[in-house]
Amino acid sequence: MTTELVRRFHDVKASIERAALAAGREASSVKLVAVSKGHGASEIRELYMQGQRVFGESYAQELERKAGELRDLEELEWHFIGHVQTNKAKVIAAHASAVHAIDSARAARALDAALRATDRHAVAFVSVNFGLDEKEHGAREAQIPEVRDAIALAERLTLRGYMTLPPDDVEGTERAFQRLREIRDADDPALELSMGMSHDLERAVAHGATLVRIGTALFGARS
Ligand SMILES: *Cc1c(COP(=O)(O)O)cnc(C)c1O
Repeated sequence: MTTELVRRFHDVKASIERAALAAGREASSVKLVAVSKGHGASEIRELYMQGQRVFGESYAQELERKAGELRDLEELEWHFIGHVQTNKAKVIAAHASAVHAIDSARAARALDAALRATDRHAVAFVSVNFGLDEKEHGAREAQIPEVRDAIALAERLTLRGYMTLPPDDVEGTERAFQRLREIRDADDPALELSMGMSHDLERAVAHGATLVRIGTALFGARS
């Protein structure tokens, strides 16, 4: 029996493939991070059975609970996509193999210390905020070098790429995706681009996203 969730999973995979082909890229160059925040362990298990391995969570406590409930799924990879609060670094370090939203040297150092304490490693993304709202999370462009340097100096973190959460409007999104790609290219074109959510997946893939973080289009609205 095909459930609604499985049907949406195949729809999202097809959308990624179409967007990649339209951009002249290999479908396999875009990886899906299934953003499961606000949804249950049973739904994650259902997608795992369909072959999905990478799941994204935004809150440390929720990650910890689900990682416990799903510890039997040996190939499951947790990506932490939320803001890194230094007092939650231990919980994040204990479960996540990738952290998408590192926006300060302080957060990088706290995570590194927690990874050393748990004898683990993680890959890291610098999250960049191109919006006008200073209160939003994400490093401003001018702060990127210090965050990047802190990751480079960390013993247990490896820089994997750049991430952004674009503003709500289409033009702002276009500019943010384009600028993030320029920043990545100027650093190292082999690094990844974590950008694109349910509503802007196609646009992100057109601009070179290698990881798309999709929640609503897969699991439906969050309660
Ligand atoms: C929740 C979240 C997503 C998924 O958003 P959808 O619109 O549900 O696809 C992606 N990235 C981050 C950082 C998020 O917090």
